[in-house]
Amino acid sequence: MAFGYDTITPEPVSKLIDEFNRLPGIGPKSASRLVFYLLRAKREQSERLANAIMAMKDTTIFCNRCFNITVDDPCSICTNANRNERQVCVVEEPLDVVALERTGEFKGLYHVLHGAISPVEGINPEDLKIRELLSRLRVEPIEEVILSTNPNLEGDATAAYLAREIIPLGIRVTRLARGLPMGSDLEYADEVTLGRALQGRREM
Ligand SMILES: [Zn+2]
Repeated sequence: MAFGYDTITPEPVSKLIDEFNRLPGIGPKSASRLVFYLLRAKREQSERLANAIMAMKDTTIFCNRCFNITVDDPCSICTNANRNERQVCVVEEPLDVVALERTGEFKGLYHVLHGAISPVEGINPEDLKIRELLSRLRVEPIEEVILSTNPNLEGDATAAYLAREIIPLGIRVTRLARGLPMGSDLEYADEVTLGRALQGRREM
């Protein structure tokens, strides 16, 4: 048991509390609340939840080109002939793709890094999809890379690293404009602010 339950709580209950507690943004209190809610709710609700989790794990894969989440490989953005293949927007997480798509401002392709460089957390360039991005730049007709990593320490460090790698290849490198709340995540920016940051992007 992760954080010392009483001996009265049955093990299947405390086990599920532990699992919820492991999820980001859910503390022990919310974890208990969710489990006791499910205990009282109809059996079908737990079934739907369990099935949805397993279906997500069994059918969702990463696109081999942009590494966004998808059920078909390549994904629907990579195979869309109306997207501009000459622009690639580099983001940290699949949720950032959703946020940028919501702005309706970007018609190019994406590349999802799956994280940001963070020496403190032991995340190095080789742990991210950076090698894959550099390979794409060699074989695809990409003319501009828009670095849309988060406006925080790790996001800025990642952008600086990528700029150093990409600029010598003769490809234009830009960064989302300042104006996004510093220290926050891209996914939480509203679409107007994010759209403006995209329009006002600056050369690196
Ligand atoms: Zn893709």
